[in-house]
Amino acid sequence: MKNPPSATPHAVLVAGAAGFLGSHLCERLLERGCRVLALDDLSSGDLQHLEHLRRHPALRFVRHDITEPLPTEARDCERLFNLACPASPAYYQRHPVATVLSSAVGVWRLLELAQHTGARLLHVSTSEVYGEPQVHPQPEAYWGHVNPVGPRACYDEGKRCAEAMCLAYAAERGVVVRIARLFNAYGPRLRPGDGRVVSNFIVQALAGRPLTVYGDGLQTRSFCYVDDTVDGLLRLMDAGFTGPVNLGNPQERTMLDLAERVLRLAGSRSRLVFEALPADDPTRRCPDITLARHHLGWAPRVPIDEGLARTIEYFRALSAQAGARRAQGSVSPSAAYSLSRL
Ligand code: UDP
Repeated sequence: MKNPPSATPHAVLVAGAAGFLGSHLCERLLERGCRVLALDDLSSGDLQHLEHLRRHPALRFVRHDITEPLPTEARDCERLFNLACPASPAYYQRHPVATVLSSAVGVWRLLELAQHTGARLLHVSTSEVYGEPQVHPQPEAYWGHVNPVGPRACYDEGKRCAEAMCLAYAAERGVVVRIARLFNAYGPRLRPGDGRVVSNFIVQALAGRPLTVYGDGLQTRSFCYVDDTVDGLLRLMDAGFTGPVNLGNPQERTMLDLAERVLRLAGSRSRLVFEALPADDPTRRCPDITLARHHLGWAPRVPIDEGLARTIEYFRALSAQAGARRAQGSVSPSAAYSLSRL
């Protein structure tokens, strides 16, 4: 594998900075010596994720919805990362309008800015653009098989529209764009109540509650640890490749396999309960990462058991903190809610 790209200090905008991935990205950019303008409307992000960086002199946080005109400081940024979109199916299906607008209008605002200032934009897209794939594993050249009017359409089609808009601005207006298609990133700072499978299983296992397996649990996903995902984003931003690039772990796993690992690593004796499979839930998902290997010198490094163990540790600590606050009578209603509902 090639070395990571050289760390040139830049002024960088991160949209979606208080989210799970965004907060890890901010950390890595600050380590590289970048100045970071961190934007988030806190609809699905959490300011707690940036709390440890609050006093960092190179970080400025602005609560901002990227579908609204961008703050003037954004004009100074040479690099723009767009991660501003809810990513949990349970969450985005409750907020379909905000979801589709955050992708389509949000990326439009950033593209207009990039055209105006000459900044480079990396747009974070998703494996969801492949829908229920008929080709396996999925290379970037595959067009996908998406239900344009189903319950996931607000996310899938929003992201597809955003990709099309990035390439339209690149072709017609010379904007320099990068597109990353992420496959099920996981790790510390997933929100306990956000409904994704990794956070659900871990919270349930730690609480001794049954793990909720949807369908027969034989559907597959490819889980990529957050450090690997962020490393891929940084490499892609610096690379010279315009088209979409898959960033994911090519090891495909069933939800039953994931459940077994979580139970073992958490030392939990929870049982499994089988619940209805949500509509349009994709059957299989696995990236072909030939392009990322070739153009970015990137491949995931963190083995699944190690990534899950780190994530379980995070949730244990979070639960202990919430318990301590509860004991002191100072737990915030939202933290208490998210830790107790699953
Ligand atoms: N899933 C599950 N139990 C849960 C949450 C999700 O079995 O408590 C399944 C879900 O049906 C899907 C897979 O896990 O097949 C991944 O779901 P997630 O919401 O994490 O992400 P997706 O890849 O569907 O966007």
